[in-house]
Amino acid sequence: MKIPFLDLKRMDSALKNSLKSKFELMLDNGIFSGGVEVQALESHISTYLNSPFSISCANGTDALELALRALEIGSGDEVIVPALTWVSTAEVVVIVGAKPVFWDTDTDGLLATDWEKAITSKTKAVMPVHLYGKMVGMEVLMAQAKKHKLYVIEDGAQSFGAFQVGKAAGTFGDVGCLSFYPTKNLGALGEAGMCLTNSVELNSRIQMLLNHGQLVRDEHELVGRNSRIDSLQAGFLNVFLERFNSFQTFRKRFAKMYIEGLTGIEELQLPSGILEEDHNAHLFVIQTARRNELKRFLLEKGIGTAVHYPNILPDTKPFRCGGDFQNARNLSQRGLSLPLNPWMNEREIECIVKTIKEFFA
Ligand SMILES: *Cc1c(COP(=O)(O)O)cnc(C)c1O
Repeated sequence: MKIPFLDLKRMDSALKNSLKSKFELMLDNGIFSGGVEVQALESHISTYLNSPFSISCANGTDALELALRALEIGSGDEVIVPALTWVSTAEVVVIVGAKPVFWDTDTDGLLATDWEKAITSKTKAVMPVHLYGKMVGMEVLMAQAKKHKLYVIEDGAQSFGAFQVGKAAGTFGDVGCLSFYPTKNLGALGEAGMCLTNSVELNSRIQMLLNHGQLVRDEHELVGRNSRIDSLQAGFLNVFLERFNSFQTFRKRFAKMYIEGLTGIEELQLPSGILEEDHNAHLFVIQTARRNELKRFLLEKGIGTAVHYPNILPDTKPFRCGGDFQNARNLSQRGLSLPLNPWMNEREIECIVKTIKEFFA
């Protein structure tokens, strides 16, 4: 049996047909920037996440950059970023002219709660990342940030659909940033992203920044750019949104099968809290000292896996800096993402469990 890590060709034909119908409809309507699909997407997401303002944009990286710019973070400022995350989180800080200050994670890859030790007189913001779909403890983090008068930009690129005590990932901070990259839980057929905020002022600043500094055509208030969402992607996302709860049901069911099947293997650490409401089961990351060996073994048996991520950012060329970052480094060396997506079936999960047991036997 060949089991790819993720194969988006496997979308079922009913879904493919809905997407084709949406494309046909949009082709007939002739609106390819802005328009009703974009408005519908923003309003659906505002309702689903209970977010007062949901501002779609070109991709998740832009969403993060727009958030920093809207908060006027730039030259001379420092922003606290976890040492293990997708590169975007740190990249945008450098792009706006500020300095990322890396801090270690906990053993799950979430910004360690003692991040306040990284605060200096230059610190303007902290960027918690809900890595693998698991939410950072936001009540504590928000209280810490408030105490030090820091902005909070949530990187919710991996956590769409996770809620903590009923409040959605991305709706705690000053701005929450989402990505609809095709492999995310809510993924487009291309690139797209979104900023969430409850601030009237930030909402209008972000809207201006992503559309040439204007709210009304030809009335430029500031220097902006074009980071508008592609309307076709908004249309496709509206189709995917209708199926989102069912996608999540599959993810949680498969995650539960993994947990039940893999519990009790001494050399293996399973992801914590993946069945809880504040985890959207984006990635199923196991940890073992024999990671590379296991990855190779699974590949020989036809099972694809991935590593998120093989390097911590302070060890990479553009962001190199000293420091220990022991938990983050451990995870980068021990973590292995197993296939987990709605396009799989139970037989495949059973096969993966059996093969992993065989490896450790
Ligand atoms: C995917 C991702 C992003 C970037 O989103 P894009 O839409 O690919 O630009 C940012 N941060 C994290 C943690 C991500 O996983």
